[in-house]
Amino acid sequence: MNIVRTHHCPGILLLLLLVVLPGSVRPFGFHAHRIINRMAVFTLPPEMIGLYKQHIEFLSERSIDPDRMAHAVEGEAPRHYIDIDHYGDDPFTLMPRQWDEALELYGEDTLVTYGVLPWHIHVMMQRLTRAFRERNTDRILLLSAHLGHYIADACTPLHTTKDYNGRYPSQRGIHAFWESRLPELYAHDYDYLAGRAEYLPDPLETAWALVEISHLKVDTIYQVFDSLLTSFPADQVYSHELRGQSVNRVYSPVFSEAFHQSLNGMVERQMRLAVRTTGDFWFTAWVNAGQPELEPMEERAISSRLLRRIKNDLRRWEKAGESKSREKPL
Ligand SMILES: [Zn+2]
Repeated sequence: MNIVRTHHCPGILLLLLLVVLPGSVRPFGFHAHRIINRMAVFTLPPEMIGLYKQHIEFLSERSIDPDRMAHAVEGEAPRHYIDIDHYGDDPFTLMPRQWDEALELYGEDTLVTYGVLPWHIHVMMQRLTRAFRERNTDRILLLSAHLGHYIADACTPLHTTKDYNGRYPSQRGIHAFWESRLPELYAHDYDYLAGRAEYLPDPLETAWALVEISHLKVDTIYQVFDSLLTSFPADQVYSHELRGQSVNRVYSPVFSEAFHQSLNGMVERQMRLAVRTTGDFWFTAWVNAGQPELEPMEERAISSRLLRRIKNDLRRWEKAGESKSREKPL
């Protein structure tokens, strides 16, 4: 970060923060996470939709907790990605789907270093199933919101590669470009009709399938970006935007539009996949818990104990996050 002086208005000298690199840590844009959890509610069957609709704001807002936690809590960050290409040219054949088998093959240090996203989705799924069994409204809603976050991360191609933020210096910032800037500019226009949630016979396998679908898109993202970068006049790639008190260098509207167009609906498809799969996981957890009746919970407010805990956590994460600067966008 550089501090620059800018003559903004006559006679007034303003100190503005200039963020040099486009996009810092703004994971699958907060914007996208909120939309995905919100729209996933509408995939649910009548037995579930009442409770989820009642708390749709909570589900949407709490979707971004895991990213706040990732910058503050040790061990959280690797749950948001898996650098699957670390494991060679044919990683999906080599990598065991089960945690125990992967552990035996690669050891915990390696697995944690390169990310544990699909296994963490599975852990969250088991926790949510337990919460349904216990008829614990607080936990059902909080875990549903957080599970939606990790599923959305698995639908984000650059969360599945060691080249998560550019293969070359000229591509740096591409992570936030794909997952934050494009959804912020275009997600309001997407079609989220994802159909009705379906039962997942093997949720861990589904989590891996998401990673594989996403990873297959990494090359396309880089190819499209590179060909645009070489064909675009250099002075039209970036522009500056005022956000709060700072001026951010961002990809210009015209470059963003060209990138979005050339990706040919990829961001929209991946967001819709996240919506549908989040609904599938919520529904499957409920079925596996024996389809408990949710109607009696509908009018129950989220406990003041949980709301207090969330408030304290947010404060703690913010404080810890400020003192830590993490390179990896999550
Ligand atoms: Zn994340």
